[in-house]
Amino acid sequence: MDEREFQALSAQLGALSEVQREAILAALSAKASGAGALALIDQRFAVQPTCGHCRAKRFTRWGTSNGLIRYQCQDCGSTFNALTGTPLAHLRRRDAWLAYAQAIVDRLPLRKAAKRVGIALDTAFRWRHRFLEKPRDTKPAKVEGVVEADETFILKSAKGSRKITGRAPRRRGGKAKKPGLSTEEHDCILVIRDRHAATTDALLPDLEGKTFSSVLEPVVAKDAVLVTDGRAAYGQWAEAAGVLNIWLNASKGERSYGVYHLQNVNGYHARFKGWLAPFRGVASKHLASYLGWHRMKDREGQRLSATRCLCAACGFG
Ligand SMILES: [Zn+2]
Repeated sequence: MDEREFQALSAQLGALSEVQREAILAALSAKASGAGALALIDQRFAVQPTCGHCRAKRFTRWGTSNGLIRYQCQDCGSTFNALTGTPLAHLRRRDAWLAYAQAIVDRLPLRKAAKRVGIALDTAFRWRHRFLEKPRDTKPAKVEGVVEADETFILKSAKGSRKITGRAPRRRGGKAKKPGLSTEEHDCILVIRDRHAATTDALLPDLEGKTFSSVLEPVVAKDAVLVTDGRAAYGQWAEAAGVLNIWLNASKGERSYGVYHLQNVNGYHARFKGWLAPFRGVASKHLASYLGWHRMKDREGQRLSATRCLCAACGFG
């Protein structure tokens, strides 16, 4: 930083709030000690600080603990730090978090991630689900304008499941025993994507009309144009909700109607399946985490970095 930039920076320091000032001090001392992940977490927390117990915004500094600034809430009286109430709150080996976040950015399968980061395989497994807990639930509140909705099916996998009843465990990539697509043998993923790339998805327990309605109702804007295939469930919901539904008769080879088509959502399906392939079978019960991981990657694109991934895991923006 040159002298003029430094002068400009110093001039702004007087405007810092107490929490911001503490975060900068912590960042400076962490830089000296190499505690990068914790400094980052303290810094990001300071952007919109709230009590990890009761979400109040009034608190005072209460020393430090384990490398993080500690606060005491003036409303509930509890002490907390930036990680309180986040999925990472009780994870150890904080020195390895940024490297693990980078492994998520790089879509490394578990064994490779564990090896690169220098943690045990079961730790890598546990961390994966903690790191993905917030991204799993991060979805757009609304999809608007031209909205494409379509399902895709993945053969169910019981990988990692110790209790299998009624059938032999099978990894993904096998063959279904029944012809056609059913939620008995397949995981059904409904993806809803608008032309601004806002994307949400849901794992459907069955293919009943009310299941589709429960997914579409809260998220599709009432003035949207909903583009779908000919599945009756879409039309039924659209009619009840007063939403215009353009449906394409795929069985008759109808791929588009004017500007309306399903290429964006079907392209998303294909990218998700290609992205999932290196994992060589994801247990059905974990599929939602992987969907959230992929949405994060799709949303962030090239901006997705280890620091952004770590902040997302803590639920910071
Ligand atoms: Zn509180």
